[in-house]
Amino acid sequence: MPFDPSYHGQSVSRVKSLAKQMSPPSATNFTAEVVPQAPEDPLFGLVRAFRADEDPSKVDLSIGVYRDDNAKPWILSVVKKADDILHNDPELNHEYAPISGIASFTSKAAELILGGADSPAIKEKRVTSFQTISGTGAVHLGALFLARFYQGSKKVYLSDPTWANHHQIFTNVGLPIASYPYFSKETRGLDFEGMKSALLGAPDRSVVLLHACAHNPTGVDPTLEQWKEIAEVIRLKNHFPFFDSAYQGFASGDLLRDNAAVRYFVEQGFEFVVAQSFAKNFGLYGERAGCFHVVTAPASDAEATITRIASQLSILQRSEISNPPLYGARIASIVLNDPKLFSEWEENLKTMSGRIISMRKALRSKIEELGTPGTWNHITDQIGMFSYTGLSETQVQKIRSDYHIYMTKNGRISMAGLNTRNVEYVAKAINAIVRDVK
Ligand code: PMP
Repeated sequence: MPFDPSYHGQSVSRVKSLAKQMSPPSATNFTAEVVPQAPEDPLFGLVRAFRADEDPSKVDLSIGVYRDDNAKPWILSVVKKADDILHNDPELNHEYAPISGIASFTSKAAELILGGADSPAIKEKRVTSFQTISGTGAVHLGALFLARFYQGSKKVYLSDPTWANHHQIFTNVGLPIASYPYFSKETRGLDFEGMKSALLGAPDRSVVLLHACAHNPTGVDPTLEQWKEIAEVIRLKNHFPFFDSAYQGFASGDLLRDNAAVRYFVEQGFEFVVAQSFAKNFGLYGERAGCFHVVTAPASDAEATITRIASQLSILQRSEISNPPLYGARIASIVLNDPKLFSEWEENLKTMSGRIISMRKALRSKIEELGTPGTWNHITDQIGMFSYTGLSETQVQKIRSDYHIYMTKNGRISMAGLNTRNVEYVAKAINAIVRDVK
C-alpha cells in the first residue's frame, strides 16, 4: 500500500478502506515508462551473433581480446608460473585486501606507468594509487573523484571517437561530456589540428581524457612530438589530464615506449590522474586487475596534498567496493616484483604485440596485392589491438552477411582476430566489398 501521510494516526481498518478507494497499484514499481528497455550493448550483441553463426569460415574481428594463431585465448607463460607460486604458498589466505588494495601490486603498478622507481613523482611521494576493478573501475573511481572534488570546468573532453564506455562512465557520475576531434577520415590518421584547436577552444580547466597508447577504437596515436604540443596546449589552458592506459606493453611490446606520453607529463610536472588496466598486457581480462593513480604537481606541500586525496579516495572506494579483488592483483604482483618473471613477461608482451604487428603487415600486403581501391598504409601505421579500416556501415553489414566476418559497425577490426589461416580470406573479402559496395 502506498504511503500516505494522511493515514498517520488512523486505525488499520480505516486505512484499509481508504486504500481500497485508490486505484490498485501496479505489480511493479518499475513499469516500462519508468524503466524502458535499454538497447543491448552493441559489442556483446555482436559476440552473441558470432557464436550463433554456424558458417565454418566465420571470423570474429569484433571484441578486443587477444587470440593466438589458432584463434584461441592465450594464457601468458608468466601468468601460469605466478599461478603455481600462488597456489603453493602455504601462507595464502582469503582475508580482505586493504581498501587501497595490495600494496606490493599498487606500488609496482605506479612504477610501471610513471617511469620506474626513480620517477620524480614517486621519489617525491606525490602519488597515491588505489587498486581497482580493472581499467573500467579505475576510470570510474577517477570520474567519481573528479565529480566530487574537482573545482575547474567539470566538462570532460573525450576524443571523437573513443572507447564507448567512457561516455557512460562519466555521465553516470553526473559529469557533462564534450568531444574533441581525433580521427581524420581522409588520412585515417590523427586530426592533430582539429584536436589542438578544440582543446584551445574548451573552457579553461576542462578535464581532457587521453588514451596513453593504442587509442581505442582507432589505433591512431600522436607522435611524441605531437604529445609535447598537446601538453603545451593543456598547460596553456590549465586543463586537467586524465590518462587511460589499457595497453601498456601490449601495443608495441616495449613498456617504455607505450608509457612515453605519461612519462612526459610527469617530467613536465603536471598534476594528473591515470586509470591503468592489466587486462590486456597480462591476459587477465576477467580477473579485473587495475589501478587508479593520482599524481600531484611538485610543491612543498605535495605530500600533504596526496595524503588528503588518498583519505578521500579511501572513502569513495569503501562505499563502492570496500576491498578490491585479490587474484589478478596477486598474479601481477608476483610478476612485477620478480626480475626474472618480469623479463619473461616482457617476452610474452613481445609475443602478443609481435603477432599483431605481423598480422597488420600481412593484411595490408594481401589487400594491396589484390589492387584493392584506396590506400591501406593506415593498417600498418595504426598500433595496438584495433584498426579503423575505413569500411562504411553498409560495407560492414555486407561483409558480415556475405562472408561471416564480424566487426563493429564503425569499421573497427580487432587485429587479434586475424591469424595465418584467415588473413587471406579477410583480405579477399575486404577487396570484394570495397569494389562492390559503396
Ligand atoms: N579503457 C580503454 C581505452 C579500453 O580499451 C579498455 C578495454 N576495452 C578499458 C579502458 C578497460 O578495460 P578493463 O576494464 O577490462 O580493464
